[in-house]
Amino acid sequence: MGWRGFRLLASQILGAVLAWVLWSRVSKDSSLAWQAVVALLGAWLAGWIWWAVDSWNAGRLLAWLRQSELGNAPELSGVWGEAGVRMRRWLRQSVHQVQQGDQRLNDILSALQASPNGVVLLDAENRIEWCNQIAARQFGFDAERDLLQSIGNLVRDPEFSAYFAAQDFSGDLLMQGRESTPSRPVRLSVQLYGYGEGRKLLLARDVTALEQAEAMRRDFVANVSHEIRTPLTVLSGFVETLQNLPLDAAERNRYLGLMAQQAERMQHLVEDLLTLSRLEGSPLPSSKDWVCVAQLLQRCEDEARGLSVMLTRKQALPHVLTFPSPEALAEVGDVAGSSAELQSAFSNLLANAMRYTPAGGRIDVSWSMLADGSARFAVKDSGPGIDPKHVARLTERFYRVDHSRSRDTGGTGLGLAIVKHVLQRHGAKLSVSSVQGQGSEFAVTFPPSRLRGLS
Ligand code: ADP
Repeated sequence: MGWRGFRLLASQILGAVLAWVLWSRVSKDSSLAWQAVVALLGAWLAGWIWWAVDSWNAGRLLAWLRQSELGNAPELSGVWGEAGVRMRRWLRQSVHQVQQGDQRLNDILSALQASPNGVVLLDAENRIEWCNQIAARQFGFDAERDLLQSIGNLVRDPEFSAYFAAQDFSGDLLMQGRESTPSRPVRLSVQLYGYGEGRKLLLARDVTALEQAEAMRRDFVANVSHEIRTPLTVLSGFVETLQNLPLDAAERNRYLGLMAQQAERMQHLVEDLLTLSRLEGSPLPSSKDWVCVAQLLQRCEDEARGLSVMLTRKQALPHVLTFPSPEALAEVGDVAGSSAELQSAFSNLLANAMRYTPAGGRIDVSWSMLADGSARFAVKDSGPGIDPKHVARLTERFYRVDHSRSRDTGGTGLGLAIVKHVLQRHGAKLSVSSVQGQGSEFAVTFPPSRLRGLS
């Protein structure tokens, strides 16, 4: 018998006692049998009263539970009061748990939203349950309007449809992104993962840069192999000739000279490749090491005049070379960076001007300060000039406008790529202006932050 039964029994005993006492006062000489009947009647009435109060309390609790918005529970005593308190506590805990669950779900969705990859959650019918903004952009979805739309209706790419239909999601699919244009292709790696009951997670990664880097690597290896194969083929041809043919001394010497030329060409190529890889792998030149511009230009002039002497052995007329006078350079200050790298870049521009400008042509070297505080180094020649359509590609590795002229003059096709790299490392910019048939100007602009004491 619980607390409830005990209370009912107590009410009934109280009812019986009250009825008996009252009856004894009203009828003093009633028989014992009558007194027992009255006490029983009292107990019966008290039981009914107890039941009515109990039902009323239960009704109040039920009325409170039936409300859609549960406010404060009614103040009840006894079992129903305790039931109300316990229910209120239980409800509060459930609401708290639901809120915590919602918060956790929101946190997970925020994390997926922040992912650099596209994420789409699909239900068992392949309808979009949720997608992040990146996926919406990659596939052209509207993250809200397209919810519960079948992905098959939204992504019409035949490759995607075939991948989806095959139901083999062990590998990824490479497909074009929705934003892809012929001038700016976008490539996506898409993979589906099953989870839950028939649900799927779709992950989409932008692999455009990766594919481009891979294509560049392949092109580079192919170019290097081609560049090395040509002189090697020539060399082995000469070796075979020397081995098999009875040649006189003059012919032998001529062949050996040609072989030396090819070996030199390969040597230049390997040197340029090593320079490029050194530039790519080494830390940026310090912006606290200062290079004296006057000394730098003096070293470039010495090198250029030496090259000019070598070229005049082959050419009828030397080039007309002009450099800033020592007086003009006396006031010039310093530029921040690596002396060796800057000299190799400037000398490359000078060597190109001399190699491509016909005998007797003019080459003017200048250093000037611009109004915004930057400084400009320029090499202007009176050579053949460059068709504007080639200008943007000149700094690509192995890009040549005139292949035979480049090769004849010992070019590797890497000179301007090295120049561009060195300048990037020094915060400087290369600009090329050229008029076909009249000449070209290659100019380097250094920002004021990398200059000191220049006037
Ligand atoms: P290369 O070793 O072939 O000279 P570069 O990278 O130094 O390679 O130059 C790329 C191409 O730019 C050259 O093949 C040449 O066609 C063109 N070029 C560079 N400098 C000049 C110049 N001063 N005048 C005309 N064409 C030039």
